[in-house]
Amino acid sequence: MGSELLSTPIGEVLHAALPSKLRRGEPSHQRQTQYRLQAHTVLEDALQKLKRAPRQQALLQSIGNAETISASHIKEQGFDQTLVKKLIEQNLIVAEETLQVEKNQPDPGINSQRDEIKLNASQQDALASIRAAQGFCCFLLHGVTGSGKTEVYMRAMETHLEAGKQCLVLVPEIGLTPQTVARFKERFSCSVVSLHSGLTDVERLKAWRHANNGRARIVIGTRSAVFTPLSAPGLIIIDEEHDASFKQQDGFRYSARDMAIKRAQSENITIILGSATPSLESLNNAKDNKYQLLQLPQRAGGAKQSPLNVLDIAEAPLDQGFSEQLLIKIETHLEAGNQVLVFINRRGYAPMLQCNACSWVCECTNCFAQLTVHSQPPKLRCHHCESVLPLPNHCPNCQSTELYTLGAGTQKIEQFLSAKFDRTPVIRIDRDSTRSKKRLHELLDNIHQGQPAILLGTQMLAKGHHFPAVTLVAILDADIGLFSADFRGQEQMAQTIVQVAGRAGRADKPGEVVIQSRHASHPALSSLTALNYEDYAQQLLMERQSSQMPPFTHLALINVEAPKRTNAEQLVKSVANVAARLRPSQLESIGPVPAPMEKRAGRYRMQILFKSDKRLLLQRFLQQLCAEIDELKIPANARWSLDVDPLDLI
Ligand code: ADP
Ligand code: ZN
Ligand code: ZN
Repeated sequence: MGSELLSTPIGEVLHAALPSKLRRGEPSHQRQTQYRLQAHTVLEDALQKLKRAPRQQALLQSIGNAETISASHIKEQGFDQTLVKKLIEQNLIVAEETLQVEKNQPDPGINSQRDEIKLNASQQDALASIRAAQGFCCFLLHGVTGSGKTEVYMRAMETHLEAGKQCLVLVPEIGLTPQTVARFKERFSCSVVSLHSGLTDVERLKAWRHANNGRARIVIGTRSAVFTPLSAPGLIIIDEEHDASFKQQDGFRYSARDMAIKRAQSENITIILGSATPSLESLNNAKDNKYQLLQLPQRAGGAKQSPLNVLDIAEAPLDQGFSEQLLIKIETHLEAGNQVLVFINRRGYAPMLQCNACSWVCECTNCFAQLTVHSQPPKLRCHHCESVLPLPNHCPNCQSTELYTLGAGTQKIEQFLSAKFDRTPVIRIDRDSTRSKKRLHELLDNIHQGQPAILLGTQMLAKGHHFPAVTLVAILDADIGLFSADFRGQEQMAQTIVQVAGRAGRADKPGEVVIQSRHASHPALSSLTALNYEDYAQQLLMERQSSQMPPFTHLALINVEAPKRTNAEQLVKSVANVAARLRPSQLESIGPVPAPMEKRAGRYRMQILFKSDKRLLLQRFLQQLCAEIDELKIPANARWSLDVDPLDLI
């Protein structure tokens, strides 16, 4: 249940996450205390002030000469600990815990290609702020796509690696962006371990051990890597901090981003959240000065950001979702020898199969949802419960054989584009075309050859890739996001559009972004294209404030589910009764109501939403509530769970 998250101190959570072999305790690494001057200390002035305290003066001189000096070295020189304390009290020096570097451990070894890149002014400013941070400090690095955030991360890491510390880097999906890991490995010759869901238990244990004994200096991983034990943590980086994959959506629900911040706080170290499209939560925290905002407003190395153009298709005849105008543009870019990226966030062949005679629609028996038609292989698939069925050849309702598909997914569009542009390869990237990691690498390699090609894909194509030959990005249907019922719908739409658009014009070639919409004058679209992401996000924040939604209020969702509707209803009613008794009057409760998708994977789902602008009040209430629900008699096969700060209410 999610209730652990509310009451468990971070240390215990980390402990629980350790592989048991590690928990029993290997001999631990050696820590050592080092001293150095405070960044602001001007040695000569300080020595002058200490005229009347000659021993302190001598110690300060010694530390000033050495840059850093170990505790044992100080002792050897005959200075005792009270002198050290006095200098710390006067804020002249700082103490740092560092890892006792093993003899055979390579130093961070920074590769020389670094020197070819000269940081631009915004990168320098950002880096200077990060380097000046002492102890816990949370930075929000907001840099447009291609602005050189990764370069800033790597320079910030240098400082810590050289001081014998480790860096933990969290990324949304390692498998999708092998380039990121490759860049770190290329830059630093120290040991880099990458942690992801594809590792075997033995591999994972080995990686953890290396992190835990300090041999691994850089740890890169997805969500769960936030629990990796580190012997000498120096810096935490969360790349693409807005990404939904940092939130675990089932079982022990946690936000790796929030956990990482708590961890940095308890370890008293720096953390950097980076994104081209920061979450509204993080922007709001920056506004409240909880995070320090650093901005990279320009692309690095002279590449230009591409403007966003909305193409009004309300009146235009469409061919498989493409307007004539867009098809002409695609052709022009291909003929100029460039690549084109077409984005549609819907995999499969078509989202709907319908009978022409009686209008029957093919639905999943386990979920209240339509089945998606797939063509490779020809099957019906449910995208909610993963069930797979053969394609029917007649309507089960009226026996008619006139079944047709409605709408288009990536597979249908691939077919269409391959026929239309028959001399150009169409490279489709979605969950189905990349089931094996090898296949994904092959497809990405193909793209990187730089030959004219159409890249067609879902969200997977939008994440962190660098495609220098792409000059046109086409977003086929922005309207799906425009009318999302969820409160984060517009934020997510803006993030997706800006991220996808960011794939255009990355190298020396200028790019173009076309967003097709039937609602071109919708305020969300016009604001996003007229403003930059940040101004648009500030506008969304104001709307959230006036509608009292996160981050201005806190939400918690109790989900109840059972194979029988009556059982789910019975349990949710008992939960609601307990909640009604415990709930303070300032805390709002909505429900119980059926979940927006009322049945999923064979289970009926009900929910109650709690809302309060006082986080502590909400937490206390939830703790009591969870404790009392645990005492309830749970009907057969019914389950309940708690989701604090749910990403969506679906
Ligand atoms: P981001 O992480 O913000 O998307 P990257 O760090 O990947 O951006 O940088 C984009 C490209 O620009 C990379 O090829 C990188 O090597 C290059 N780059 C970064 N900083 C500079 C700079 N100051 N001068 C020239 N090129 C740079
Ligand atoms: Zn029919
Ligand atoms: Zn289903």
